[in-house]
Amino acid sequence: MIVVGAGPVGLCLALVLAQQDVPVVVIETLGADNFLEQVPRAGTNHPATLELYDRIGLYGKIEPRGIMAPLFHYWDRREQKRIAEFDHRHLKDDTRFPYVLQCERIKIVEEALKLASTHPNIDVRLATTFTSFAQDAGGVTASVQDPAGETQLVRGAYLVGCEGARSIVRKDLGIAFEGFTYPDRTLNIEVAYDFRQHGYTERNYISDPDEWSNLFHWKGPPDRWRVHFPTEPHETEEALMRPAAMQARLQRFLPTGKAFDIVGSNLYVVHQRVAKKFRLGRAILAGDSAHVNSPIGAMGMNSGVHDAFNLAEKLGRVLRGEADDSVLDRYERQRRHVAVAHTQAQTIRNKRLLAEKDPAVRQKNHDELRRTAEDPKLARAFLLRSSLIESLREAEQIA
Ligand SMILES: Cc1cc2nc3c(=O)[nH]c(=O)nc-3n(C[C@H](O)[C@H](O)[C@H](O)COP(=O)(O)OP(=O)(O)OC[C@H]3O[C@@H](n4cnc5c(N)ncnc54)[C@H](O)[C@@H]3O)c2cc1C
Repeated sequence: MIVVGAGPVGLCLALVLAQQDVPVVVIETLGADNFLEQVPRAGTNHPATLELYDRIGLYGKIEPRGIMAPLFHYWDRREQKRIAEFDHRHLKDDTRFPYVLQCERIKIVEEALKLASTHPNIDVRLATTFTSFAQDAGGVTASVQDPAGETQLVRGAYLVGCEGARSIVRKDLGIAFEGFTYPDRTLNIEVAYDFRQHGYTERNYISDPDEWSNLFHWKGPPDRWRVHFPTEPHETEEALMRPAAMQARLQRFLPTGKAFDIVGSNLYVVHQRVAKKFRLGRAILAGDSAHVNSPIGAMGMNSGVHDAFNLAEKLGRVLRGEADDSVLDRYERQRRHVAVAHTQAQTIRNKRLLAEKDPAVRQKNHDELRRTAEDPKLARAFLLRSSLIESLREAEQIA
């Protein structure tokens, strides 16, 4: 089996396959020297994902490096008031993990890479770049450039493209990446400052008609809080990222009168796209290569990891001769449905909710959030959706 990309999705896929005694080659362009120099990116791990990490021994590695957060908040920035508090403990009968784990992607891939590198069934090839592939009736041949710059061929029964949004596998297969890109980029500023003293919790979604925000807490040292802001399409990266401009933006968000200790920042473009197909013959897409979405709601990495577990179980059965490869079409039916009907729909709704400009609609949205959070039955239903448990249950019903 060939897995392209040692991101969270590729590494989870490799670990679940290896657990079933399937030999896997993982191709990763980053080397041991720069693997940890990636932007932290994703960080909220939902209960359903924690259960899956636990199956491959990853949960125990990342729990000490993260923050268990049973609560999350919606805030109204205009009013400087909390709108609603949701408590994952309403899910205590639905999951062994009634909280999210705030643990960044970089820590997850660091720990997963350690597990993969020491697993006898996994051959991790770092500093190796996948360039193209060809498939025939018996398998797939991938062309890769090894650390010395030489072209090597790698042979496997199937190839899974887990190499992110710019997937070469998807492009080589000519699969359309349907959807749209938001004109406004998101500015992410990380600061060492404890926002809990102002009533915030570990995870906060902040609505504002002019400048919505997200505010998340990550474990240090030093502990850091990530604040997301929308930006105007005409603003240049240079102007947006100037320290004085970022300080001014943070002071508008929370006027402390003292400069914030900015420990990191980056600007990113947000896409909402789903690949038209997740599989063509022996080449399969998973994670960001198959679907990308706004980070509001923390669904990209989580749903990608769910792809990996779903696919690994089916590939294992096919390789052991227990099922024919039409089960891989079920993978596409299940996970494409989740990508479109859950991840895309929910993240688009989340952004609309935070950025809503119409005062009457804002009021109605906030009243509804308040009502939902206060009613245990409604709160549980809301949390089953936001924590992706519902999407997994629904996918199970798809033949
Ligand atoms: C600011 C931000 C915050 C986010 N927050 C969240 C969150 O809280 N929760 C959440 O669920 N999601 C979040 N996301 C989304 C999340 O980061 C992605 O969905 C997730 O990382 C996708 O995982 P992946 O393994 O599919 O791809 P990636 O993480 O992109 O990994 C792809 C890997 O493939 C490698 N690669 C690429 N090309 C090649 C090649 N040609 N040859 C070999 N290797 C290659 C790359 O080096 C990389 O290691 C966030 C995203 C951003 C930008």
